[in-house]
Amino acid sequence: MHCPFCSALDTKVIDSRLVAEGNQVRRRRECITCEERFTTFETAELVMPRLVKQNGEREPFNEDKLRWGMLKALEKRPVGIEQVDEAITHINHALRASGEREVPSKMVGELVMHELRRLDEVAYVRFASVYRSFKDLNEFREEIDRLSNDNSGKK
Ligand SMILES: [Zn+2]
Repeated sequence: MHCPFCSALDTKVIDSRLVAEGNQVRRRRECITCEERFTTFETAELVMPRLVKQNGEREPFNEDKLRWGMLKALEKRPVGIEQVDEAITHINHALRASGEREVPSKMVGELVMHELRRLDEVAYVRFASVYRSFKDLNEFREEIDRLSNDNSGKK
């Protein structure tokens, strides 16, 4: 990075430490040309992407909405709230890690299905049936058959 005093390109790092509970790196730098010292702060940019709906509308990611959708699918199922929170953390992480400014909203749906499938298959089918809006009952049955076939292999 340019020296803020003389604009020279070469600076060296003379000290580096974590600040802000480890979320930031503070670096003390010295310009090789003019020997002035200055400090930089580096933070990883992990921005939550905005969601692009199928009709092209953009909306901010809404964790409450996500949680509500998952809890609805998990109603009366033997899954604890800690597991739901953990799944939501995974989804948040996956969205941030995409590094995109905008992602299709269906990516969130796919991530939810992935997590629900791991947590509880009934909840998964409930969510998938609403989310994918299965065109007809056969499609729905095929999905359930597919799930029970997957299961039979495990036992
Ligand atoms: Zn300089």
